[in-house]
Amino acid sequence: MVSPKGGFFMFIDTHAHLTSDALVNDTQQILGRAQASRVHKIVNICTDEKSLKAGFLLREEHPWVFNAAATTPHDVEKEGESFFPLVEQAAYHKQLIAIGETGLDYHYQYSPKEVQKRYLELYLDLSRRVNLPLIFHCRDAFADLFAIAGEVPAVLHCFTGNLKEAKKALELGWYLSISGIVTFKKSQALQEIVKYVPLEHIFIETDAPYLAPTPYRGKVNEPGFLPETAKMIAHLKQMNVEEVAKITKENAEKFFRF
Ligand SMILES: [Zn+2]
Repeated sequence: MVSPKGGFFMFIDTHAHLTSDALVNDTQQILGRAQASRVHKIVNICTDEKSLKAGFLLREEHPWVFNAAATTPHDVEKEGESFFPLVEQAAYHKQLIAIGETGLDYHYQYSPKEVQKRYLELYLDLSRRVNLPLIFHCRDAFADLFAIAGEVPAVLHCFTGNLKEAKKALELGWYLSISGIVTFKKSQALQEIVKYVPLEHIFIETDAPYLAPTPYRGKVNEPGFLPETAKMIAHLKQMNVEEVAKITKENAEKFFRF
């Protein structure tokens, strides 16, 4: 794909739920539009048996889609136990490129804190055993996540923490993944953090079907909308979007080893 200036660049969507109920029936069109938007690799986040099985099928047909899996902190109480052995098996069969999204969410607390922590530990242990990086979901729980996880290969997906939390994550060698939230008018605090964090520690994600960036806000999000977030990051960093694409792509390729 050649840009108007003649440059060659592509994006990676490091976090999309392609096989969630909201998107799974429309994946052919969604992937076509993703390619038209220069998105050439997608990390598909599988959160249950159904989305994982669909993820395997999708990857067979589209080898540029890669799967990660774990029960989200929201659902660990209900579904954690039944899904864990499937994630473990997929990891050992080299069908995953990362473990996640796992982590802690004390904002909604759909599952009790202690259950969330127990599954976080289980997934941390699995990631060590199979040598795969981690994708963390964290909301209002940074102190516990930092203390429990420590220096592991990890990305904080859809980062919305404060500057202190961003700094601590960088200290631990983690990456910060920036979603469409950064394009919203009220997101000045996050925009300041993006200015501060070295681009070498940033990934870009859609978190599709959630969190569509401006000007698609309110629509069902999809990987094809990723360039809007990249453009905002480029604007904040006063760089061109080609350079943002290139460096964030290198970051993700190094981390996921794909
Ligand atoms: Zn997600």
